[in-house]
Amino acid sequence: TGRLKGKTVIITAAAQGIGLASALACAREGAQVIATDIDAGKLASNATAEGIITERLDVLDPAAIKAFAERYPSPDALFNCAGFVHNGSILECDEDAFSFSVDLNVRAMYRMMRAFLPGMIAKGGGSIVNMASVASTIIAAPNRFVYGATKAAVTGMTKSVAADFVTKGIRANAICPGTIESPSLQDRMRALGDYDTARASFLARQPMGRLGTPDEVANLVVFLVSDESSLITGTAIAIDGGWTNT
Ligand code: NAD
Repeated sequence: TGRLKGKTVIITAAAQGIGLASALACAREGAQVIATDIDAGKLASNATAEGIITERLDVLDPAAIKAFAERYPSPDALFNCAGFVHNGSILECDEDAFSFSVDLNVRAMYRMMRAFLPGMIAKGGGSIVNMASVASTIIAAPNRFVYGATKAAVTGMTKSVAADFVTKGIRANAICPGTIESPSLQDRMRALGDYDTARASFLARQPMGRLGTPDEVANLVVFLVSDESSLITGTAIAIDGGWTNT
């Protein structure tokens, strides 16, 4: 405990899954966490721990991001976790589906970084953690056409920001989880029709024989937020139980 003492951390999509686990883990390590989500009710009931303030933030709303950044202008760290998994190949991805994923997975992250970078630079530095995925950055995944495209864009934006602001004390890293037990993964497995078959196919590609947990990804987020990772920037780090690297 105390690894993040004195740090203020802003997290998007923190009402459930990896964002929630990360908010709780950062608070456990002594950070002041501003946990945000579009679903204020779920956020308030789940993100309850000493050190966490909850705020409704729809990352698709540029005016809301601007107002939010005016209230918390200079965090030590920003974890952009919000993202949506569209299921399908290019042929299942119509214009609306394409636009939605680009807006949520890419444009929102661009807006968040643009809103908070000036304050972080003025303060002398900070750590940005962006949610990408092993899908696209490391390996092709079936039926992840626009998802992969957007997560590749996340990795690209992250490396660009890392390069441009390295002398200003800013570090930016992308994290690339494999398959992680989260509420939306449960929804996706149910939506495929046959839950057991869907789960078995996700498990089949896991050399560890199990899926990852949000807490395991949160451990990586804590490390990247903390000064323990002070030499690490511009990377895209896989955290996938050996799916892509064994
Ligand atoms: P999840 O999908 O279960 O939860 C997502 C959260 O995002 C919800 O609380 C939802 O209310 C919130 N949200 C949706 N739209 C929003 C908006 N416009 N503004 C603010 N919040 C909004 O969580 P998860 O599965 O842990 O996924 C979180 C991130 O991790 C996503 O970017 C996802 O692509 C990425 N990821 C997940 C996995 C996985 O296997 N679960 C793997 C790799 C990457």
